[in-house]
Amino acid sequence: MTPLLPSVEPPPTLFKDLLVEPEESRSILRPQRDERYGFGFALSPYRGCSHGCRYCYVREYPNALHRPEDWGGWVAPKLNAPELLWSQRHRLHEQRVFMASATDPYQPLERQYRLSRRCLEVLLLCPTTEVIVHTRSPLVLQDLDLLKAFGDRLTVGLSIPTDDDTVRQTVEPRAPAIPSRWAAAERLASAGIPVTIGVAPLLAVHDPQAFARRARASGATGAWVGRLRLLNQDPFYKLLADYGWLKVLDPDYAEEIRTAFQAAFPARRRIREAKAAPVLPPAVAMPSQPGLFDRVG
Ligand code: SF4
Repeated sequence: MTPLLPSVEPPPTLFKDLLVEPEESRSILRPQRDERYGFGFALSPYRGCSHGCRYCYVREYPNALHRPEDWGGWVAPKLNAPELLWSQRHRLHEQRVFMASATDPYQPLERQYRLSRRCLEVLLLCPTTEVIVHTRSPLVLQDLDLLKAFGDRLTVGLSIPTDDDTVRQTVEPRAPAIPSRWAAAERLASAGIPVTIGVAPLLAVHDPQAFARRARASGATGAWVGRLRLLNQDPFYKLLADYGWLKVLDPDYAEEIRTAFQAAFPARRRIREAKAAPVLPPAVAMPSQPGLFDRVG
């Protein structure tokens, strides 16, 4: 493939208060050996994520470029991601690729860098490879035609962890508003693209039954519920306590939401059971975490 971007890393730049640090990556496919995740490789065209969700444990990944408290303030676009993926396409035969597990592939920089799009263009040329695009952003619609070209070997998962946008404004202040995610789900589904709703990580929900019915009405073909994970001494625990949202850590609460979704989706669209995530009190050490979610649905 002919590189569209220069192979020499440009210096870091500030982009609307975001520190952008383009890089040449040495690897692009991260194997997922735990079959419970439902995919063989995770693919992240960016390091870091400007959505900066306050609960995001990726901020403490060992390959993070900056301090956890700076999470959301920097992003490293992997300039050579499409070319690297092309060079490794032989690994993708009859594999399922999850894009992305440690960043949002449609964060605002994608408008400029188009790295997720160009990775999808490579994956389109791998006819036995299934793809799951997971995002919080309606920006995914900019690639609608490309997504359609995959037919039924691509699914878009939209993360909608609450039905209440005021909750989203508190915990995901830089991520797209909930109504815009519903609109994106509807647009994708009406274009014939399989859509799943990821209620993950499960946050405070205003009306579980109405939430589940909303998911069904969006045209999604599936949904799943994934519980919140906390890091060791996670400051997010205090936020939950301050807002009276500690119930989101309660397994019974997750079960209540899951039951509402099971009722809203008919038998052929059964919500898939996400493996119960370990929800640890703040003082307990967290084992290494290979990805954002327990299972994709
Ligand atoms: S949870 Fe996802 S969208 Fe939010 S900051 Fe982390 S990687 Fe980005």
